[in-house]
Amino acid sequence: MMRVMCGAPALETIADAHATESLPVCESGARVLDYKDERTVSRFVTERGKILPRRISGMCARHQRQASVAIKRARYLALVPYIAGFEG
Ligand SMILES: [Zn+2]
Repeated sequence: MMRVMCGAPALETIADAHATESLPVCESGARVLDYKDERTVSRFVTERGKILPRRISGMCARHQRQASVAIKRARYLALVPYIAGFEG
């Protein structure tokens, strides 16, 4: 499977398949992903709260790593759930 780099055209098909807006982290040139920014962080998780895999998110290694760290920090702060839609 081909690794997609920042802003690769594959993002479009992925966005269609997942009905999410594209993830312009790479194009926007954002160097730091803020874990306190709940809205941004929540874009990198599935509706169940799982971290989007790189093959879906289409992010480069640098941003994917930043996203995963940011999500984990945001989870700890309860900004983003560990598991969404879980009643129990
Ligand atoms: Zn990137």
